[in-house]
Amino acid sequence: MRVLVLGAGVVGMATAYYLWRDGHEVTVVDRQGGPGLEASYGNAGGLCPSFAGPWAAPGMVAKALRLSLTPRSPIRFRPQPDLHQWTWLARWVANCNVESFRRNKLRMQRVAHYSLACLRTLVDEAGLDGFDFHSDGVLQLFRTPEELELGRLSARALEELGIAWRLLNAGEVDALEPALAQRSAPIAGALHLPSDASGDSHKFSKALHQHLVARGVRFLFDTPVHAIEHEAAAITGVQAGPQRLVADAYVVALGSFAPRLLRPLGIRLPVYPLKGYSITVPVQDDGPDFQTALMDEHNKVMISRLGGRVRAAGMGELGGYDLSTDPEQRDMLVNVVREFFPVGLDFDRVETWAGLRPMTPDGPPVLGRTHWPNLFLNSGHGSNGWTQACGTSRIVADILAGRSPAIDMDGLTGERFGIASA
Ligand SMILES: Cc1cc2nc3c(=O)[nH]c(=O)nc-3n(C[C@H](O)[C@H](O)[C@H](O)COP(=O)(O)OP(=O)(O)OC[C@H]3O[C@@H](n4cnc5c(N)ncnc54)[C@H](O)[C@@H]3O)c2cc1C
Repeated sequence: MRVLVLGAGVVGMATAYYLWRDGHEVTVVDRQGGPGLEASYGNAGGLCPSFAGPWAAPGMVAKALRLSLTPRSPIRFRPQPDLHQWTWLARWVANCNVESFRRNKLRMQRVAHYSLACLRTLVDEAGLDGFDFHSDGVLQLFRTPEELELGRLSARALEELGIAWRLLNAGEVDALEPALAQRSAPIAGALHLPSDASGDSHKFSKALHQHLVARGVRFLFDTPVHAIEHEAAAITGVQAGPQRLVADAYVVALGSFAPRLLRPLGIRLPVYPLKGYSITVPVQDDGPDFQTALMDEHNKVMISRLGGRVRAAGMGELGGYDLSTDPEQRDMLVNVVREFFPVGLDFDRVETWAGLRPMTPDGPPVLGRTHWPNLFLNSGHGSNGWTQACGTSRIVADILAGRSPAIDMDGLTGERFGIASA
């Protein structure tokens, strides 16, 4: 079958891999000049199924409102004259309760753990390397005894889900990750999640691109998709750049921009961008040689070692599609990194980045069929898209081929938002 994948972020690239593996004739189209150049470019690098959970949580409405009014807050709300933002927000608020949180978290955990297993298999199958993959787990760091106590509670929830964890005191943290010894940040303790990992999703996308080009997958970069065309019963083509592309099936992996192209097809996909920031700092010769990715729970900033660089990312701004960077947020990230690693990083050469997390209001992605029999979705990966890319893409390839996915699809399709399937 000829399949056209719309979008070459990490999700579109992984989709192309599984479709190619099934023997389809695959074309990938993207407006950027290469793969993984939007949300998949500068994210925190965490492959963290153990963290996977919705932003829509009990108490989050009050917390978000309070933080939005605080200067230099990591969470901001910028109201837009856009009905899409307000309907998304209303749905998000409706999910901020204990019952929805628990249900959504379980759904996200299901797909995230499956996804990391798929990524490991893909890496072995394709012999993929060069994306700064670290399989040494994650340390969730708590600065105060109160935060540590909350960590203890969330560890119990991990136990229910069968996820390996270990609670460490400050001395045990230093023993596990000696590079933290010079920190000025206080550490009351940490939760060690040994089965999580980290890596660079942009480099992964590039490596996959090379692998797939060599195997006949066609890529059309610098090619913006303007419209998806249809007749009464099926999608018939795509207007992309100056050309019309025709295939037997189409997969939408357009990150935060999927709703715009789907709306004219009668599909109201509730995906809205949540902007975040990252900095990437070169490591000097004598720089910190840490392997475990770190989550500074106090500031909700994740820090990963990506080869010769350290990446720190966080913040959430609900306010449209603007991608400008903010010196205040940059400085906050620099300060956090300095507190953990005061020496050995070249802070004169910091790369600052902003990206848009494609968020659903409840948390899980939207996968699979639509009411158009030859149009499929791989969308709404939110703050866990790198973690989830391989599993969701394998699921979409399974559905397209008429196979049953390996995990229960309850709560992972468009049905929960009234998106009908053919
Ligand atoms: C600050 C920050 C930190 C994060 N940290 C993590 C983390 O630690 N772990 C994790 O798992 N996830 C993390 N994420 C989330 C993750 O980065 C995203 O979920 C993921 O990259 C989404 O991938 P995607 O392929 O769906 O979207 P994208 O990477 O945005 O890809 C969409 C593609 O569609 C293309 N496109 C859009 N519109 C058009 C059009 N009209 N025509 C042609 N092409 C088009 C774009 O060019 C782009 O290449 C983070 C995100 C941010 C912002």
